[in-house]
Amino acid sequence: MISVVAPIWNEGPGVDRFVARLSEVLGDAQIDFELVLVDDGSSDDSWARINHQALVDPRVRGLRLSRNFGKEAALLAGLEHANGDAVVVIDSDLQHPPSAIPPMVRRWQEGAHVVEAVKRNRAGQSIGNRISAKLFNRTFTRLTRVDLVDATDFRLLARPAVDALRRMPEHSSFFRGTSSWIGFTRATVEVEIDHREGGASRWTARRLARLAVNGLTSFTSAPLHLVTLAGLGFAVFALILGVQTVIRWISGGSVAGFTTVILLLLVTGTFVLIGLGVIGEYLARIHEEVRGRPRYLIQERAGADVPDRWVVE
Ligand code: UDP
Ligand code: MG
Repeated sequence: MISVVAPIWNEGPGVDRFVARLSEVLGDAQIDFELVLVDDGSSDDSWARINHQALVDPRVRGLRLSRNFGKEAALLAGLEHANGDAVVVIDSDLQHPPSAIPPMVRRWQEGAHVVEAVKRNRAGQSIGNRISAKLFNRTFTRLTRVDLVDATDFRLLARPAVDALRRMPEHSSFFRGTSSWIGFTRATVEVEIDHREGGASRWTARRLARLAVNGLTSFTSAPLHLVTLAGLGFAVFALILGVQTVIRWISGGSVAGFTTVILLLLVTGTFVLIGLGVIGEYLARIHEEVRGRPRYLIQERAGADVPDRWVVE
């Protein structure tokens, strides 16, 4: 049996479309499944729709988070309540084609523990989005050696991989990164990313930037090392300039050099502030982790009251 976990935030009628499409595809492929729909604090009728779906189909279960905790937290909630021998994580807006699930399941049956869907295209994304995504994935892969190029959140995880993920205590998890970091036998399936059916992307530039910073800081301390390196570079520079200034002063040299002073002030000031900012980001993360608050809260459940097979609560 496989579990399909899908986060839902204000998808409205999209919920019904998604459930219908998914059960059609998996039914045709004769795959035994349960569907875990995680309502990430929707303010529209998404929860009512999930409830309805859970009533008419016993394979559907719903989890309602007490507020919008973000996609990452919703995924985690779903993973922690999935009972399948493998879990497929998929967006509920039909941008991740459910038709890719049967091939993913096949890879899993052939022995892969993590099957990633890699995108062949990037439909429905603006140029700016595409460029920034590429830039981020490249940088991330470079800095952390966790390969993210063309990766998506759409993936299948076998039970051992799911359990490995659940053992990670990080507060601001970054699913795409952690699910690569854990290793295990991997396989990929190519998918065409579809246009969004209804609604608009939930990711504002700000949310994306947040995700990028979280992802980077939770995977690498390279930015901190860069600050150190920049500091060392400046030290060398300062030494040369210092010596030159002193020599000039001894030889009764000039007072000129206004431009140099201003430039130095601006450049060092900028670097100091950026350095502080980078350190601050890490501090903020440490603070977050130390508080150790739960990563999501469940308000309500819908569907068959199956005890979670793998969860000790
Ligand atoms: N989503 C969520 N919580 C959020 C933001 C998004 O559960 O805070 C869900 C959303 O309902 C969708 C998936 O995450 O199923 C991907 O969101 P979206 O389509 O907006 O992202 P994009 O496809 O643009 O990356
Ligand atoms: Mg989408």
